[in-house]
Amino acid sequence: MKIVLATLHSRYVHASLALPSLAATVAGIPGIEAVIRESTLAEPPGRILRKLEAEEADLYAFSCYIWNVEATLKIAADLKKVRPSALVVLGGPEVSYGSFELMERNPAIDVIVRGEGESTFRELAVAAAAGEPDLAAIDGLVYRDGERIESTPEREAMAELDLLPSPFAAGLVDFSKPLIYVETSRGCPFSCAFCMSSLERGVRSYSRERIENDLSLLMERGVGTVKLVDRTFNFDASRADLIWEHILRHNRSSRFHFEIAADLLTEENIRLLRRVPADTFRFEIGVQSAAPETLRKVGRKSDLERLLANVRRLREETAVTVHLDLVAGLPGEGLEGFYDSLASLLETKPHHIQVEPLKVLKGAPMRRIAREEGYLFSETPPYAVLQTPWLGYREIGTVETAARLLDLFWNSGRFATVLRVLAERKPLHELFRELTDFWESREEEAPYPLPRLFDALWEFSAGDPEREEIAEALAYDWCLMEYPSPERLPPFFLDRPGERCANPEGTAASPGTRVRSYRRLFLRDFRSDPPGPPAEIVFVYRSAPGKGLQVSTPG
Ligand code: SF4
Repeated sequence: MKIVLATLHSRYVHASLALPSLAATVAGIPGIEAVIRESTLAEPPGRILRKLEAEEADLYAFSCYIWNVEATLKIAADLKKVRPSALVVLGGPEVSYGSFELMERNPAIDVIVRGEGESTFRELAVAAAAGEPDLAAIDGLVYRDGERIESTPEREAMAELDLLPSPFAAGLVDFSKPLIYVETSRGCPFSCAFCMSSLERGVRSYSRERIENDLSLLMERGVGTVKLVDRTFNFDASRADLIWEHILRHNRSSRFHFEIAADLLTEENIRLLRRVPADTFRFEIGVQSAAPETLRKVGRKSDLERLLANVRRLREETAVTVHLDLVAGLPGEGLEGFYDSLASLLETKPHHIQVEPLKVLKGAPMRRIAREEGYLFSETPPYAVLQTPWLGYREIGTVETAARLLDLFWNSGRFATVLRVLAERKPLHELFRELTDFWESREEEAPYPLPRLFDALWEFSAGDPEREEIAEALAYDWCLMEYPSPERLPPFFLDRPGERCANPEGTAASPGTRVRSYRRLFLRDFRSDPPGPPAEIVFVYRSAPGKGLQVSTPG
């Protein structure tokens, strides 16, 4: 029997962890051949359908998430028409709740695997390979029995994760992808009402040996980015230390991305993290709201003060890249509250801030709260919040604009100097608030090429009594990004002369490399923080085919 394990990614860089894990559970079973077929949402559905049909499989299993379920259902419906004898199976978080309704609305779907999939899928595959499977005997399914839709008892989560074969050791993971997902644990010790992980009780970890073997394989293969999908990686501080220590000893060139709870970091953790080289670890830290009452309403038990203090320490004492998350639209938080939360995050100077409007997910306890409180939210994926008693529909649009501006101006790191100068005038959250209003008043639409962003900030600063300082900072940020060509000099360079040089002294250019420099007197020396007295700053620009532009400020 041939099985196709399929999914639709939102972008090519993504690689499935679910499909190789499922393939590993049926690898080596006589009479079963499983292949993995990954596509992206950008591909024409007709082409995906042709590829799947050409496999002539007996069972097609689709991994469904919030971002792909609608497209998957359309493809599955057509697939059933052109290959009616095949069993069409869905699994994944997006179909584990509301499964009956989904089966009723989609007659092409034969079976849904609910919850943790590996054991259920293995039993289903073995039974299907034997012919005429008795689906009623397999826990964790919703299935068709003639005209009726039936379900079997929920399957208990596996107590011993090591019993699952490693998809990495089995050679089922495509190491050529730039980003590979890996898990070292399942579940979360917390239970935030808006999150699906809140439904699982407790945390299960793979053994230390299994984790180290999987990570060693990824490091040996030189994977670009290893993203750990653990919901709270550091739920056990000493376990986190052991894994981080293993990475520090064996890493060659990979980068690692962890989702952590910063309030759980210990002194020992931070001591170890001081040894992490730059551009190696990235921590994604959910703050979600800085309002204790809001966090209480959604059952999120985090020690906010300690969390923010530890984020500050990560920034000051380590080279870990820090990414903070906020959710807009939680109970009790309006637009004022959102900007207050943003203020708390900006004070810690993280590298990135990601703001997402709340998603009222199927199966999550937030659905009940949303109905009780009179929320409006979309009934289709991604179940975006439309209005709350505290945040109006248009205000949610304003939060989305603020999120985009944070991404363009803060997260990009391209405007660090001008933001530093603007922050001397007013707190950054107020600045972003005013910038958001300015942006909305101009009805700015994407795309946003960098020169347009510089121009927009220059216009935004129009009424500033000391605008020349802003011009200086913008010019400095521009020079760090691009050679200031005399033909296209932006207005904030004012009329201050600068000196350009084609092959500056002391810059050895290898063949094929182009080197240029630009020298200009700045009223403040932005190379230091706080800025120093006026200084002549030289920018050196090196460009080589395939390497992009490298800018340095020697001295
Ligand atoms: S939001 Fe994070 S901490 Fe809360 S339940 Fe989900 S994974 Fe756990």
